[in-house]
Amino acid sequence: MDPTGQSAVGFGVTATTSPYLDHPDAIGDRLGDEPHYRSDQVREWLYRNPVMTAGEMTNLPADLRARLEPLWPFSVEVEQSTDEGRTVKTLYRTPDGSAIESVLMGYPRRTTLCVSSQAGCAMRCTFCATGQFGFDRHLDAGEILAQVTHANARLRSDPMPRSPSRVTNVVFMGMGEPLANFSNVAESIRRMIEDIGMSGRSITVSTVGVIPGIDRLAELPWPITLAISLHAADDETRESLVPLNKLYPVADLIAAAHRFRAGKGRRVTLEWTLMDGINDTPDQAFRLAAIARELKAHVNLIPMNPTPLAPQQRPSDARIEHFRSEVERHGATVTLRDTRGVDIDAACGQLRVRAAGSTPISITEGATQ
Ligand code: SAH
Repeated sequence: MDPTGQSAVGFGVTATTSPYLDHPDAIGDRLGDEPHYRSDQVREWLYRNPVMTAGEMTNLPADLRARLEPLWPFSVEVEQSTDEGRTVKTLYRTPDGSAIESVLMGYPRRTTLCVSSQAGCAMRCTFCATGQFGFDRHLDAGEILAQVTHANARLRSDPMPRSPSRVTNVVFMGMGEPLANFSNVAESIRRMIEDIGMSGRSITVSTVGVIPGIDRLAELPWPITLAISLHAADDETRESLVPLNKLYPVADLIAAAHRFRAGKGRRVTLEWTLMDGINDTPDQAFRLAAIARELKAHVNLIPMNPTPLAPQQRPSDARIEHFRSEVERHGATVTLRDTRGVDIDAACGQLRVRAAGSTPISITEGATQ
């Protein structure tokens, strides 16, 4: 498949799959002879008040609970918690063996879940651990949504200290390129908003720069937030980090960001993973600030998390701070992302790298799909 291509929305409706994989209209198929009001009760358990097991759905009869098994479309393979329980990284495994990662982060006024949109990734950004493993498959809308409901079920039984006890914000910054799996990502967002009851404003789609996907995202009816992983302000530097830049160069990408902002009336975020000696120079800071000012975008700096095969390194704290202050001095609004979960590899396919214990494919090999 073309790395930027689309797959059909696959809901995989059979009686032996998780109800999260059902087509949204198919809940009735699970009800059997039960009265119609049961469907509202089931929806309530699945989306609004999720529990870890169907056995906990106390107001449903036993045979209906049995028809909701297996409840989850994956099992938990690894769960690691750090920052005094305020960061939890989970590695899920699907029945067909695919890995899905998510990271839950508790803050004073929000609880943010970083979700995966694909198992693996075809984009091959040279500094990213996920890209080093190549592409496995798209995630189904239900597999994306269930990362949120599973986190909510966990928070219900084990809330994070001093943070909302449900997911308030979702960021598509886990494994995968969300705009290369557009239909499933859009459907998962619809269900987060309509079924779970989240606000579109609190959902951020992060893209490496799939321009047709950005334009389609702008057409969706919800006020979602767009984050663009820019990382470099000129084509030569960006191509060395993000191969997709050959297809969608910087100027075209910035133009797409302007269209999104104009169409949606929503501020765009520019993400910039800082790498020592590569994109942390005064010249890059100057150019980044110019792009951000023009776009009225917010800049989010992410100090690079070193990964086993990537040649790039994290800059020193002094260089990071200098870059941040240069961007600010040139008139852009900028924040430095906290490095939550660095000690549990909570970034970009890194837990999977360790769990797999296998050898990543070489970056120079062709895409596998
Ligand atoms: N494919 C999407 C979303 C997943 S990556 C995208 O590219 O935006 C989420 C963010 O993590 C991106 O900004 C990405 O550049 C960044 N990232 C990837 N590898 C990283 C690393 N080793 N250290 C720090 N940030 C990284």
